[in-house]
Amino acid sequence: MENRVFNFSAGPAVLPEEVLLEIKEDLLNYKGKGMSVMEMSHRSKDYQAIFAETVDGVKRVWGLEEDFEVIFLGGGATTQFLMTALNFCPDDKVANYILTGTWAKNAYKEAKKAGKKNHIAASSEDKNFSYIPQAFSLSDNPAYLHITTNNTISGTQFRNYPDLPAEVPLFADMSSDIMSRPINVKKFGVIYAGAQKNIGPAGVTMILIRKDLLDRLQPDLPTMLSYKTHIDKGSMHNTPPTFPIYIVGLVMKWLEKMGGLEAIEKINEEKAAFIYNTIDNSNGYYKGTTAKESRSLMNATFRLPSEELEAKFISEAAANKMSGLKGHRSVGGCRASIYNAMPMEGAKTLAQFMKEFQANNPA
Ligand code: PMP
Repeated sequence: MENRVFNFSAGPAVLPEEVLLEIKEDLLNYKGKGMSVMEMSHRSKDYQAIFAETVDGVKRVWGLEEDFEVIFLGGGATTQFLMTALNFCPDDKVANYILTGTWAKNAYKEAKKAGKKNHIAASSEDKNFSYIPQAFSLSDNPAYLHITTNNTISGTQFRNYPDLPAEVPLFADMSSDIMSRPINVKKFGVIYAGAQKNIGPAGVTMILIRKDLLDRLQPDLPTMLSYKTHIDKGSMHNTPPTFPIYIVGLVMKWLEKMGGLEAIEKINEEKAAFIYNTIDNSNGYYKGTTAKESRSLMNATFRLPSEELEAKFISEAAANKMSGLKGHRSVGGCRASIYNAMPMEGAKTLAQFMKEFQANNPA
């Protein structure tokens, strides 16, 4: 599409062009229903079909059988920091966390605010969250271990997930790498993700809860903060984010068309290689900010020789139709977010631009 830029923003982020075109096509009159999906009652037959199709799409992409509840809520991943603790940590147990970045730390802190005992099982804060810790130690009486699979700000990603005793479930915030590669979903008790990076627009959060954990749900919680409410009512206790949920369904179909998670993983690896190889072959001009073995395939973070050059790099990139390359305000530097929907051409174009910028702007 003419005049579209390569959008390297960390989120809300790029969506597949095919999906945007389909939305446009159906915007005023969805499949001859005479109205937009936005205008449909969430309880109407037509919308119920769209909702069911989204849930089916999620199950197909992940190869899930009936062993998980899938719900869609508002409130962002940030609300899930609170809900996981409230729903799954009884007062006599301890919520365990691996701290690998700002979001992981926020989840850990929220457990305390929910009145729960919390414990740091491992942390990479000693080195500015630049790596994924390999060892961890659980507290006594752990309710669960929570990890952030991809750290959007620091640019690290778990390759392998922690192995836990059978009675301790693994919970994961997958906001920034959900469905970017095949994983063994059954290894997780709870998975949640804000949609706005890899599976849709902002406004909806997808939550998976393994059914064997349902009897651990804490009773008597405020209605909207209780997973039981949303599971029992099929995400329709109140009005869910209907339009974003519809778009998540379209993204699931797009993922299947792309060849599913095996295919998207290969593409993601190739895109990331363009950028990381450029960094590694720049004679130190570009410096990756993370340990190589912990590098994220979704968010590549790097520095230039000076802050002045970084500012110039970001503004020249923008002038060349590459937007969103500024690092998170808490860490500075540059960050290229290359989620599923970033085309190969985008990663190639950025790598080429990086080489030219280095040649034209010696340190
Ligand atoms: N977790 C991760 C890994 C994130 O990257 C973000 C947002 N960038 C959040 C949680 C917070 O998500 P939300 O804004 O949907 O609450």
